[in-house]
Amino acid sequence: MSSPSNGIDSDVVIIGMGPVGKMAALLLARAGHSVTILERKDATYPLPRAVAHDAEIARVLQHAGMPVDSMPDAVEPYDDMYVWVNADDDVLHQVDWTGIDPSGWNNTYFYNQPALERHLDEKLQNLPRVVIRRGVDARVTGQGSGGVEIEVQDVADQTVTRFRARYALGADGASSSTRTAAEVPWHDLGYFFDWLVVDVIPGPSLEITHLAKQVCDPKRPTTVVPAGPGRRRWEFMRLNDESVESLVDPERIWQLLKPFGVTTANSAIERGVVYTFNSGWAENWRVNRVFLLGDAAHQMPPFAGQGLAAGFRDCVNLAWKLDLVLRGIAEDDLLDSYASERVTHVSDFIDFSRSLGQIICITDPAAAAKRDRAMIAERESGRTPQAPPAPRLGAGVHSGDRGGYLSRQGVVLLEGSDSPQKFDDAFGSGALIVAEPVEELPVSSRETLKALGIAVTSFGGPASVINQEWARFEDVNGTYAEWFREWDITAVLVRPDFYVFGTASSGEELLTLASDYVRAVTGKSTRAGLPVDRAQSHALH
Ligand SMILES: Cc1cc2nc3c(=O)[nH]c(=O)nc-3n(C[C@H](O)[C@H](O)[C@H](O)COP(=O)(O)OP(=O)(O)OC[C@H]3O[C@@H](n4cnc5c(N)ncnc54)[C@H](O)[C@@H]3O)c2cc1C
Repeated sequence: MSSPSNGIDSDVVIIGMGPVGKMAALLLARAGHSVTILERKDATYPLPRAVAHDAEIARVLQHAGMPVDSMPDAVEPYDDMYVWVNADDDVLHQVDWTGIDPSGWNNTYFYNQPALERHLDEKLQNLPRVVIRRGVDARVTGQGSGGVEIEVQDVADQTVTRFRARYALGADGASSSTRTAAEVPWHDLGYFFDWLVVDVIPGPSLEITHLAKQVCDPKRPTTVVPAGPGRRRWEFMRLNDESVESLVDPERIWQLLKPFGVTTANSAIERGVVYTFNSGWAENWRVNRVFLLGDAAHQMPPFAGQGLAAGFRDCVNLAWKLDLVLRGIAEDDLLDSYASERVTHVSDFIDFSRSLGQIICITDPAAAAKRDRAMIAERESGRTPQAPPAPRLGAGVHSGDRGGYLSRQGVVLLEGSDSPQKFDDAFGSGALIVAEPVEELPVSSRETLKALGIAVTSFGGPASVINQEWARFEDVNGTYAEWFREWDITAVLVRPDFYVFGTASSGEELLTLASDYVRAVTGKSTRAGLPVDRAQSHALH
């Protein structure tokens, strides 16, 4: 646990308490750091925006101590197809959202953002080293080698106080003043249409199927999706000859909902708001001790449901690195890899979201007919539709051909237990996983990895504790055996954010893999002797 001193009020200050600021605070505070959150608004934004997340984000929530199955009021799995139809209801495209993803959770979930944020609030309120200040406008005014200066202005009475932290995270949304103050340019991919977003609370008489549907009708491109327990979402594209005011008129909203069987007799509208979808990213996510996260760092149209998800990925990527730096185990330059890894990754999702939008938002009847013919032909040819990307991280803390890709999570059984559990619940989220038989790693490597939050584990024999730093698990569903066979490897080193650092295919490569990881993270070599004592006293797991 680090303790601020020398005029430092907090290890980390987070500007903005949207979902991304909350997640970043939660991960850092759970690692033992003092965190202050500064938020302009008096309360959480009460209306839903994001509704969908994927299996990787379910794993992030698991890592943050709030697994999706513990929040049935906020999140529900979707085990069905995502169907694209044309104006005549012919199926153009079906995306398979059924089953369990390699991340160990359902492929897709739908949720209510305010309810999810309430769970984040509850988690934060129970952590002793978190201070939350609402009703304040925060601005970075300076920074030096020891920390960042923040000016904090009370929104109600305009009084100004000053605050110092070792690092500042700007999670202050699309119009981030942290980004502006740091003079970070915006890589603008431009405007991407206006959409009316309508959240509906269906009454018991409205028959709800769980179907997620994209209606590619050039007269009115429309999206229909679940929106978390007890809710449904409709999104209608604004046409060129329509004003925003005319679209948000409640009578007009009911007219738009009527063809879907939604009426005043069977449902209530929670809200109808027109959003302008933009896309782009900040050209620099780090300015010395200031970092940008979430919508402050990137924006995309929501067609792939990945905006908030990308923000949560930012949090996990930055939090484990910042944790090691704040504990004095890693050098500050480890933090450079946050931007280099994440910007490449998010730009793939931005491209994907835009490419979906380019198909969905067609309003020219001839172009729509051409699109429909092409999609139907593709479907009839048996070709599977374009999958969401599983991008690789940009240059950073990973090595070899497999480094930088998302790892898998299987179900494991430990010695003395008859309850199978998810791997991360058993071992934490960073691990060296080795297939047996394998040469042993030297004790010093095992200790060092453990001190860096990397559990040393293996599978291939009965579950057992091999020694103090090494547990063998039973690979209950064969996830690891299949993964290792597919990649032709004997070991994988998974970083604490679930991305693969690298792999090995022999005992010798295993030793190199372990020492490469230590060197990449700490700048020091295992064989040359590591700051193990210092690291051990702060071990994460
Ligand atoms: C219609 C719609 C549908 C979407 N669907 C999805 C989806 O299905 N899946 C998905 O993953 N994403 C989706 N998104 C995107 C997602 O909602 C956003 O990416 C996410 O909410 C951004 O969170 P954030 O914490 O980065 O920013 P915000 O939620 O904007 O939070 C920023 C916070 O910073 C505060 N703030 C700003 N300036 C200051 C300051 N100077 N001082 C103090 N506080 C400040 C603000 O008050 C605010 O509370 C959707 C978005 C929209 C609009």
